[in-house]
Amino acid sequence: MNIVSDPKAIPQSTLLSPEANQAAALATSTGVLTVDLDAIVANWRKLEKTAVPAECAGVVKANAYGCGTEPVARALAAAGCKTFFVATLDEAAAVRAAVPSATIYTLDGFFQNSGEAYARIDCRPVIGDLNELAEWDVFCRRTGWSGGAAIHIDTGMNRLGLTITEAQGIIPRINAGDHGITLVMSHLVSAEQLNSPINARQLTTFREIASVFSGVPASLSNSSGIFLGAQFQFDMVRPGAALYGVNPTPEADNPMQPVVELKARIVQFRNIERGETVGYGGTWTARRPTRLAIVSAGYADGYFRAASASDGTRGAEVIVAGKRCPVAGRISMDLMAVDVTDVPPNAARRGHMVTLLGEGITVDELAHHFGTIGYEVLTSLGSRYARVYKGGAATGTAEPPVAAP
Ligand SMILES: *Cc1c(COP(=O)(O)O)cnc(C)c1O
Repeated sequence: MNIVSDPKAIPQSTLLSPEANQAAALATSTGVLTVDLDAIVANWRKLEKTAVPAECAGVVKANAYGCGTEPVARALAAAGCKTFFVATLDEAAAVRAAVPSATIYTLDGFFQNSGEAYARIDCRPVIGDLNELAEWDVFCRRTGWSGGAAIHIDTGMNRLGLTITEAQGIIPRINAGDHGITLVMSHLVSAEQLNSPINARQLTTFREIASVFSGVPASLSNSSGIFLGAQFQFDMVRPGAALYGVNPTPEADNPMQPVVELKARIVQFRNIERGETVGYGGTWTARRPTRLAIVSAGYADGYFRAASASDGTRGAEVIVAGKRCPVAGRISMDLMAVDVTDVPPNAARRGHMVTLLGEGITVDELAHHFGTIGYEVLTSLGSRYARVYKGGAATGTAEPPVAAP
């Protein structure tokens, strides 16, 4: 295991061995986020098998969906992943540092004067607009840069991408050869809904336009798209969320392994009488003599206030000493209260960790309580937690937690 923690939080740790360092961080941190790199790799392998012979890329934007760009990119590369998608140039630079041989696409594309950065990092813009393409061409001609670019074609999302008519307009260029286009792609609107008629419409539109980009590899599917069938897989698939354990097939059981476990510390116990209320607004009333555990995680840590419990609404659940216990009252910024009346008094002590995510509490379950999707749960995970990486040993490049003195 290997820990990455804010070095400022534990300044003396620079003098400690990695093991002592981890122990120190765990002793001082109010929460611990464990990312299972082996599970991410297993998920990637499963997706790759499902999509073969299409290439399986890895989407690692937004700090690898909150899991840590560098350790995740390294673990995926060691498993055989060659192509990575990020949103921004800073993220591209992080992947380049972690995986020198990676092919990297930057989804937010090219904007004025970002050419030098594209060349320096050696990554490829995903171009979604004709002005952008023209500026990219100017940059490439002026500098002689020939690192390649993807063309994004809009087939229904109305977000990024050339219209079909615009895409048809650049076919002569494709036919002329030496065009510098290394991928043609589009993005699905409702891939997680198996029966959405939009899927088939986008497939038909994309198949037609991709077929005239002769010789250029094509890519349509995100995580959920992979499960829509082989015809959606083209030459490359681009899973993100499924790598990190989000269910890509919400209408069926989750085929992916859970990746993230989140624990936070019990900082106090208190006993209250029947009829007393808990937390801001006094929205939750004890219906019996109640024992509360006050846990050191709140909405500033990405545990959404929407998961609060009131007299009218059940909130999220937390696992205390192996038992599911309900949240009591409003989630506050740094803290939450949990009703532990049914946990034997000696099973949980002050200073013990409780489980907010893991041990059967899935990202998708939390998303339900948060009123959002698993994607937002992951990308909201707080920066105050100590981060522990499990597995990924095959990379042989587990980074030391803090620079050696
Ligand atoms: C984020 C993103 C993906 C990955 O989507 P998931 O649903 O997380 O698998 C793929 N393609 C594009 C264009 C994206 O923006």
